[in-house]
Amino acid sequence: MCLYKKFIPSFYKKTIFDIDYDFLKKQGITTLFFDLDNTIIPNNIPYIDEKSYLFLKSLLSDFKILILSNNSDERVKKASKDFLFESLCHKPLIKKTKKALKRVNSTPSCTASIGDQLFTDIFGGCRAKLKYRILVSPIRISSDATRTTLGRKIASHYMRIIKKKQIDIYKERLEQYAQTL
Ligand SMILES: [Mg+2]
Repeated sequence: MCLYKKFIPSFYKKTIFDIDYDFLKKQGITTLFFDLDNTIIPNNIPYIDEKSYLFLKSLLSDFKILILSNNSDERVKKASKDFLFESLCHKPLIKKTKKALKRVNSTPSCTASIGDQLFTDIFGGCRAKLKYRILVSPIRISSDATRTTLGRKIASHYMRIIKKKQIDIYKERLEQYAQTL
């Protein structure tokens, strides 16, 4: 597969609340790996807010859920409340993703990753061969850490290539996202 294709998400939705979870269930997805920062909460907010917490809890009746974050152990432990998590993941590296799959006794073919970054969550999810890689818009771009900004520069490079090579897919899955950056 051409490298740029690994940056193409399976779907784009504005927020985690807009994703069609029934569709994922029907497709045999049993496991959801959520990114934390700017996907569930801005990275300057210490805990998952009530609305997101209850929403994620409600998904537990259909899915196994694990929060997969590149942030520190202290940050992710505190923010994740009682959800399973892996911190210091170094996505797009896949060591922790593989560990997470083992922890929840799941496989890539029944797992979807959900996150706000093409480089870490989409490219990383593709490297781990997860069945769906779902892109959401970052909740608050100004709260990005420096390393996140670097990831976004890499992502912009690949977005330009996708726009040039596959304009229809770009329009469907990346145009709206690009407008929110
Ligand atoms: Mg993020």
